[in-house]
Amino acid sequence: MADVTNHPSKLGTVAVHAGEPTQKAYGALATPISCTATYTFRDTEELKHHMEGAIERDEYGRYGNPTIRVAERKIAALDEAEDCALFASGMSAITSTILAIVRSGQHIILTSDCYRRTRQFVTGVLPRFGVEHTLVDPDDYTGIQAAIRPGTTRLVMAESPTNPYLRCLDISRVAGILKPHRGIKLLIDSTFASPINQQPLTLGADLVFHSCTKYLGGHNDLLGGAVSGSDALVGALREFRGILGGILDAHGAYLLIRGLKTLAIRVEKQNESALGLARWLESHPKVESVFYPGLESHPDYDIAQRTMRGFGGVITFTVKGDLDATSNFIDACNIAKIAPSLGGVETLIEQPALMSYYELTTEQRNSIGISDALVRFSVGIESSRDLQKDLSQALDRLP
Ligand SMILES: *Cc1c(COP(=O)(O)O)cnc(C)c1O
Repeated sequence: MADVTNHPSKLGTVAVHAGEPTQKAYGALATPISCTATYTFRDTEELKHHMEGAIERDEYGRYGNPTIRVAERKIAALDEAEDCALFASGMSAITSTILAIVRSGQHIILTSDCYRRTRQFVTGVLPRFGVEHTLVDPDDYTGIQAAIRPGTTRLVMAESPTNPYLRCLDISRVAGILKPHRGIKLLIDSTFASPINQQPLTLGADLVFHSCTKYLGGHNDLLGGAVSGSDALVGALREFRGILGGILDAHGAYLLIRGLKTLAIRVEKQNESALGLARWLESHPKVESVFYPGLESHPDYDIAQRTMRGFGGVITFTVKGDLDATSNFIDACNIAKIAPSLGGVETLIEQPALMSYYELTTEQRNSIGISDALVRFSVGIESSRDLQKDLSQALDRLP
């Protein structure tokens, strides 16, 4: 159950202050960018103390950096986690974590409605290393239970909400299914929710991922990935990051800290605008259907009401028209920019048929549930009245 007392406004305070030392270098208020590849030791004695773990300090840039550490502590606080490790991108966080956990001969359960690159990694790359998988629909809880191979299944990887249909997983229910199987870790990609709307660790997940490129950075100017969880798990991941090498850079970490400070107000605004626009779109004569977890018509409305504090800025809908009519509608939007990605201050729009699924035919796309008339709309922080007016004039051009 979502802790309803943990209101986003409280997380607003966490977002601004958590993870930051009370007194910084030169009395500066902002976190400095520690732009250094390596760290010097005063003398051999200090080096020995460091090697024996008697002092806490940095050694080399691939293992850690003070600016990155501030961002990690802030995200850990927002996730209600003991620790967090940052990576160069969301995919780096996901692939490094899965590689750190699974061994040859083990098995992964992956929910089918998931980020395309995660699916490619699990279904296309991991089999080369002898790691097997089962794909299960996100609402098929008996399927998840049935897919468990005791002693062999090592993790369940799921997203909530999913892309593009914003299906929401009952995370506590899956955690309950996995409870008797102590060795199986539950990993949740919570990118579409952000910690403001959902905290999977409080619902029983072992690790939570965020693509910081989306809501956490929030300004479409950085790539980054985060994974939060227990000290033990994240500590092991940090070690593994030192081997695979996909650490965020200090400039990216600075931008991330800056973006995180406004996370709560941005996401609250995006929640509010998206819910209003989703309701309006649902009643619009040129719109065929709307997928938004805050709408009663959404299949996971009840789960979302129970486990989320808000439903995010992404609305998926289909218009009444074919591939070209849909493109014309998108081209007629003046505020929303055509781009992949989501969660930033700028409203973005895309036609999945021509973005992620360009190489497929209409028939192939229909067979995997991607209609030519499907539109993904990621609401930014512009005036929602302006967004509605703009959508309205663009929808009016549909035949
Ligand atoms: C964007 C995204 C990723 C990948 O993140 P990058 O930062 O682009 O590597 C993973 N999962 C979800 C749900 C995403 O939206």
